[in-house]
Amino acid sequence: MTAKERAQIERVKMNELTPEYRVTTRLEEVAQGLTKEQAVLESQRCLNCKNPGCMQGCPVGIHIPDFLAQIQQENFAEAIRIIKESSTLPAVCGRVCPQEKQCEAQCIYNKMQKKPVAIGYLERFVADYEREQGEIVPPQAAPRNGKKVAVIGSGPAGLAFAGDMAKFGYDVTVFEALHEIGGVLKYGIPEFRLPNKIVDVEIDGLRKLGVTFLTDTIVGKTLSVEDLQAEGFAGIFVASGAGLPRFMNIPGENLIGVMSSNEYLTRVNLMGAAEAGNDTPVLKGKHVVVVGGGNTAMDSVRTARRLGAEATIVYRRSEDEMPARREEIEHAKEEGVRFLTLHNPLEYLGDEKGRVTQARLQVMTLGEPDASGRRSPVPVEGKVETLDVDEVIVAIGVSPNPIIPSTVKGLDISRKGTIVTDDNLRAQFTDPTKAKVMYAGGDIVRGGATVILAMSDGRKAAAAMHEQLSR
Ligand code: FAD
Ligand code: SF4
Repeated sequence: MTAKERAQIERVKMNELTPEYRVTTRLEEVAQGLTKEQAVLESQRCLNCKNPGCMQGCPVGIHIPDFLAQIQQENFAEAIRIIKESSTLPAVCGRVCPQEKQCEAQCIYNKMQKKPVAIGYLERFVADYEREQGEIVPPQAAPRNGKKVAVIGSGPAGLAFAGDMAKFGYDVTVFEALHEIGGVLKYGIPEFRLPNKIVDVEIDGLRKLGVTFLTDTIVGKTLSVEDLQAEGFAGIFVASGAGLPRFMNIPGENLIGVMSSNEYLTRVNLMGAAEAGNDTPVLKGKHVVVVGGGNTAMDSVRTARRLGAEATIVYRRSEDEMPARREEIEHAKEEGVRFLTLHNPLEYLGDEKGRVTQARLQVMTLGEPDASGRRSPVPVEGKVETLDVDEVIVAIGVSPNPIIPSTVKGLDISRKGTIVTDDNLRAQFTDPTKAKVMYAGGDIVRGGATVILAMSDGRKAAAAMHEQLSR
């Protein structure tokens, strides 16, 4: 096939459940994946560039043209093997990575005014194909070296670190505060975007590699870092994430019915709160407002729709500045979510029983770009609107989990509460002579970031700790 013929193929469209149906089901995945024929045709669009921009856009450097070439040959096992050389969670990343800002943003097709190769859909396709064939091939591990390492937190950073250290031959134990493994992949991102069973397959792969998981264990409370050292763990990787919700500190945030997106999503995703008769209930409002414009806001508002609410996004800038993935914004709109942009909550009002009944919203306009490069929101003087609500979900960002930063003596902590590391992700101590073999990565170092960046940190820290422990 010539390059011209390849370039004439239209980019594939993801097969999706209809919006009418999907708001009736919280558990079924919206995106249904590509068929084999669709995947092979889409892979044929790749021009096998000499200097592939797509690879430069991938934070973990997947050999994208090589795996696409294998799909063209219908050699799916080889395609997934190539991906796994660089990425530990391909079925997850194929679903939730912001490819439109990474690999696909740098695909040569953009310069030709055409849609980029659907790299994310194809990554997902081969990962799903392998799982559905029941042919998951565990990676090769080195012989056990007799050294133990501990991981604090089981999100993507912790899982990626655990996988690589197990491959290097270490005995790896992951300590997780919650009763489920997976971090945000389980408690934050809903089933309709990332089914738990997909995450569980990846975790099973790590168990097969010999990784041990201890749930319901909060390091810094249940046991200390010193306890871990006393138990013979030669190195510790902190991957405790950024699970501390932020509020706006405005009047009425303590009313019944106002909660953080973390609480809302954790109750629904992890505690079965939406199911009748469950021990952990969740308020099912009829008029739900979700404050924020990121992925967490979209996940919350789409969950509220699925629980039967009329749901509104309230966001202080315009839609163009929203940090959420474009796909999530489009899906939310298709599902009937109302978008009230250029509005910002001033206060919440309640009834005599302390339940939220109204939100007072300041109307905003856009000013000059701020430090984030986005146009800043500026209040329009005297323009305030009132909205009737019975539930408010605040999704305006998160802060680093404070337990490890506050319990490990001498750990260098930034003003934002993140752990300070060197370029190799080794945690810094105020007194370097008291430094531990401790590395940190993911959201606890970056603040809120992405799954793929958390994973790449896990891998980088594993390589560095292995090098240090091998001296
Ligand atoms: P986490 O995933 O937060 O995992 C940290 C784990 O550590 C948690 O399980 C926590 O319980 C545990 N822990 C904390 N303290 C302790 C302790 N003291 N002892 C033991 N365990 C502890 N990113 C994307 O790329 N694409 C998306 O579509 C996307 N959607 C998102 C949707 C939501 C709702 C949220 C909240 C985030 C989303 N993100 C998305 C961001 C992404 O999920 C995070 O950047 C990523 O999960 C960070 O990984 P992590 O391993 O650093 O931390
Ligand atoms: Fe293929 Fe696009 Fe990467 Fe070029 S930039 S190798 S066309 S995916």
